[in-house]
Amino acid sequence: MRKLSAGLVAAGLTLSLAACGQSSNGVGDGAAKGDAKGGLIGIAMPTKSSARWIDDGNNMVKDFQAKGYKTDLQYGDNVVENQVSQVENMITKGAKLLVIAAIDGSSLTNVLQKAADAHIPVISYDRLIKGTANVDYYATFDNYKVGVLQGGYIVDKLGLKDGKGPFNIELFAGSPDDNNANFFFNGAMSVLKPYIDQKKLVVQSGQTDFNQVATLRWDGGVAQSRMDNLLSKAYTTAHVDAVLSPYDGISIGILSSLKGVGYGTAKSLPVVTGQDAELASVKSIIAGEQTQTVYKDTRQLSKVAVQMGDALLTGGKPEVNDTTQYNNGVKVVPAQLLQPVSVDKDNYQKILVDSGQYTADQLK
Ligand code: BGC
Repeated sequence: MRKLSAGLVAAGLTLSLAACGQSSNGVGDGAAKGDAKGGLIGIAMPTKSSARWIDDGNNMVKDFQAKGYKTDLQYGDNVVENQVSQVENMITKGAKLLVIAAIDGSSLTNVLQKAADAHIPVISYDRLIKGTANVDYYATFDNYKVGVLQGGYIVDKLGLKDGKGPFNIELFAGSPDDNNANFFFNGAMSVLKPYIDQKKLVVQSGQTDFNQVATLRWDGGVAQSRMDNLLSKAYTTAHVDAVLSPYDGISIGILSSLKGVGYGTAKSLPVVTGQDAELASVKSIIAGEQTQTVYKDTRQLSKVAVQMGDALLTGGKPEVNDTTQYNNGVKVVPAQLLQPVSVDKDNYQKILVDSGQYTADQLK
């Protein structure tokens, strides 16, 4: 990862020196040069209820300020209207660039028209902004791969490739208004579905469609209630062997539900996946409860967004490595995708501690 990011920095510099490119908001080729460098950057993040977004926001503030910009960081508390008015305020305050991780990817069309009218470029951060031409670039991870890592982990852990099974599995997905949730679920199902079709994986609840398994706003409490329901309806005698969970906050809710009916004491806990390597989940993995998480180094994502923004504001062209996958309904948004990494008890030390994400003390 370190090597990759050094490469990105070098490539970004070359490209910005080349001073080419024109964004859909008319920035580039001098339009925003001069007063844009060192100007105000509006950073709109969805919620403080999960550590990753707090880190994303702080990292971007630090990285933009290191390049001489001023920043306005706002959190929408998972309320769409809050985020819309925060972005509106940023435009009024004269922001030169907006970096937005949407709460609801389809809710920003009107406010981004105002940004376009004011020639403010927009970077979609981690989550794709949908239904508008007024989004210039997308900084994210390989979201499909996140799901492949989650589904693949279940397959490996249960020994399905060695012919073991059948096993019982339940499926959870993320928020239906977040484009990422589909990518994660589709990636996971690309691996799990063949085993479901062969009846080597059995979904006792029968709930396999995205809309049946989605969790509005990624809410761990909502997931916990759904798991309570599944356990009381479909598992009075059967044992749950695996749970596909898209995000650590959801995994923790699922685990509470399972423990409430004797999993982890009277009967063994299922394989439970996750995402974000949040502190509570890493501790849970070390304690033998949650089984896996997917780590995304948001320090690197911040650097990608900052390079993109700086290139846009200085007449350069941001580096991208995907120009096909992220169609937002109006345009394919050019994206720079970073790589996610699967983490469990066996490699957390190397991936999370040696990399400086957590200290050994934090994990005690
Ligand atoms: C992010 C995940 C996160 C989830 C819930 C998604 O858009 O990509 O990293 O777990 O939102 O916050």
